[in-house]
Amino acid sequence: MGQKLKQFVLTDSKKKKFEDLCDYYFKFISKDIETSLKFNHSLDFPTSNFCERLNFVLHNVKGYPANFLWDAENKSEVKGCNYTQSVKCHDCGNRNNYYSKTCWSCQSDKFIFIDDTRWGIDTNAHFKYIKQLSYYLFVVIYPLNKEIYSPQFRLQVFKVDSREKFFNKILEHQNKFGSKGKNFMPYSRDFFLSSPSELLNVDIKIKNTITFKYNLKKEKKITSFPVENKIPIEKKVITKKEMINLSLEEDAEGELNLIEVLNANPEACNPCKHGKNRGLTTRRS
Ligand SMILES: [Zn+2]
Ligand SMILES: [Zn+2]
Repeated sequence: MGQKLKQFVLTDSKKKKFEDLCDYYFKFISKDIETSLKFNHSLDFPTSNFCERLNFVLHNVKGYPANFLWDAENKSEVKGCNYTQSVKCHDCGNRNNYYSKTCWSCQSDKFIFIDDTRWGIDTNAHFKYIKQLSYYLFVVIYPLNKEIYSPQFRLQVFKVDSREKFFNKILEHQNKFGSKGKNFMPYSRDFFLSSPSELLNVDIKIKNTITFKYNLKKEKKITSFPVENKIPIEKKVITKKEMINLSLEEDAEGELNLIEVLNANPEACNPCKHGKNRGLTTRRS
């Protein structure tokens, strides 16, 4: 359906612009971590601004100086998730700065990583502008350590064609039976079933200077996904129940083939908790 997206290539000139952009955004991050800890406050990384500019750099386009229909002139939509968010104290339950060594409230040094950050998709707008909307760029910023003066991050950039079939099935279901906003979670079932392409996977190390380690040679179509994710976020991707329903079996590495899953015709939403839809899903016992 529709035109195919062009293969993404990280040319030398894009790479240079990408590194310049990161240099600017990550240069003072240690100072921000230090300041946020000093005042027992949250971090102040401008995730959405950075991610929108990332799209400009990677696709050689410009944006708009104020709110506009599109995030960029190529009619794309950019969503960013930053996992450097607050962590929960294991002992008292209060939220702490990601880089805290001990809880501000009870001094415990045990924290629980919260992985509820998500990309929000306006399903109304999606279907209203679907004819022109080109792609969604999904960005994840994930901390690889807790070092204040030598922080490290992994940056992953994914692209989903706005006309992608299962992606639209999910959004349609949400639009019909849920609220008009889809909470799209990184590394989730819905994410993998939307056939994302990975454009960039880079480790960024900050210490006096910034160094980049590129973990991906070129654009990678995701063709399989783990039943249980370990890296970067530990979570169950697909339930045992759904696997049984779809007669699917994981391979020796604990992975499922994406085409096989899609051919098994999975439900748009599983487990479906959308009240109004409950009476409709009785065809499976
Ligand atoms: Zn505590
Ligand atoms: Zn549902």
